[in-house]
Amino acid sequence: MTHELRELYQQVIFDHYKAPRNRHALDHPSHEAEGHNPLCGDNVKVYLDVRDGVIRDAAFEGGGCAIATASASLMTEALKGKRVEEVEHLFQEFHELVTGGAQGERRDLGKLEVLAGVREYPARVKCATLAWHTLHAALDARHGNVSTESP
Ligand code: ZN
Repeated sequence: MTHELRELYQQVIFDHYKAPRNRHALDHPSHEAEGHNPLCGDNVKVYLDVRDGVIRDAAFEGGGCAIATASASLMTEALKGKRVEEVEHLFQEFHELVTGGAQGERRDLGKLEVLAGVREYPARVKCATLAWHTLHAALDARHGNVSTESP
C-alpha cells in the first residue's frame, strides 16, 4: 500500500468515526442484535429492515474505538440494497481483506477497502469485524447477542 493511499484510507476512517452514517435505531427492525468486543470495549447494536430478501435499511447504535465505529458506519452503508444471500460473501471478502487472507485476489468491496490497513494491526481485526459478526447474529435469529470472546 502506498503512503498516499494509506493516508487517504485513514482520512475516510476518521471521517466515519467523527460523523458515523446511519447511527440511530430503526423503529421497526426485522432483525437486530448486539455485539461486544471486551478486548477493546467496543459495543454495537445492529438494526436491519429486510423485506423480500433485500436489506432495505441498515443502522447501528453504539460504537467504540475509531476502527469499530467506522467499520459499523461503512458496513451499514454497504448493506443497503443488498440481498441477504450476498451478505455472507461480502463478509467473507471483508474478513479476508482485514486478515490479509487470499491476498492479491480481486475484490469488489468498494469503500470497505479503506479498512485494509487493519491487517497490519492484528489486535484491531476484532474491532473491524465486530459489526459484521453482529450482523450475522441479527440475520441468524437464534443468537441475539454476540461477543468476540465467546466460543
Ligand atoms: Zn476497538
